[in-house]
Amino acid sequence: MAKYLVTGGAGFIGSHLVPRLLGDGHKVVVIDKVPWNEANNLFGLSSPSLEYVENSVSNTDLLKSLVENADQIYLLAATLGVRRVIENPIGTVITQFDQVREICAVAKSSQKVFYASTSEVYGKTTVLPLTEDLPLVFGEPAKARWAYACSKLMAEYMLLSLFRDKKVPVLIGRFFNVVGPRQNQSYGAVIPNFLSQALKGIPLTIYGDGTQTRSFCHVTDAVDAILAIMGNDKCIGHVFNIGTEDEISILALARKIKKLVNPSLGLRFVPYEDAMPKGFEEILHRVPSVNKIRQYTGWSNKLDLDEILSVCLKALKGV
Ligand code: UDP
Repeated sequence: MAKYLVTGGAGFIGSHLVPRLLGDGHKVVVIDKVPWNEANNLFGLSSPSLEYVENSVSNTDLLKSLVENADQIYLLAATLGVRRVIENPIGTVITQFDQVREICAVAKSSQKVFYASTSEVYGKTTVLPLTEDLPLVFGEPAKARWAYACSKLMAEYMLLSLFRDKKVPVLIGRFFNVVGPRQNQSYGAVIPNFLSQALKGIPLTIYGDGTQTRSFCHVTDAVDAILAIMGNDKCIGHVFNIGTEDEISILALARKIKKLVNPSLGLRFVPYEDAMPKGFEEILHRVPSVNKIRQYTGWSNKLDLDEILSVCLKALKGV
């Protein structure tokens, strides 16, 4: 039985990936600092093939021994949510650096490594749709938002060098606005925010004027994408966008949710300076090209935005 290590496995994407790996018959070791109790996303999984290690990825001796004993490694541990990043930029960087440093120190050419990167690495690049080979434009370091993007990009550089220099099979996915059940509300992501506001009957908070755009990807599609690239040796040493190409403005998203949940809901426009801490900078448009992953693996998203909203709504209502 192959042994897979998942860092941050109790997080949002991890909590959908881990059951899939277990379902495929693997032994899964999760390292995550979230305590093992009812509030833990994985708590309901009573599988003898799951080992949960409640610890930080910055515990380097421990991480090293877990890496040494794994057949495949999925690096998902991260600080999530723009607000949290701005409040803790140093911790954000260290979480990425500590994991990748240990991988670089001990991973072998027999161990496939998946790295969860982010659309944030495109920064202020204005070319749309975003392709994996674009040059990148970041904001100034005085703005703490960029700590997340920079740390993820640094990790990409280190891991791709590891592939080139030591032939460790590394695969990188850049996630674009993944949503779905178990997404922690406290991250402040727009769909969980709007849906929970809508269910409470309070106005939906649109930051800025709502003309900024995003595209959303359901978490089960994102997990399919991870498994598609990990299962295909042609993908080794490559970076792939993981998301959808269905661009929508935040105002149009708010109107869609209003219509879906409660047409009498209000919309409240909140200036960025009131909505976000100092150090925030908006990304106005962000849409991936998913041509590359489609060409390499045949993957495409199964759920569109209406289906995503319906699944998320049901999860929030507990039905
Ligand atoms: N947003 C919003 N209202 C909210 C939460 C977010 O208008 O209650 C906006 C935010 O300014 C951004 C978009 O929705 O333009 C997506 O935000 P999110 O934090 O979900 O993801 P990211 O900015 O990382 O793409």
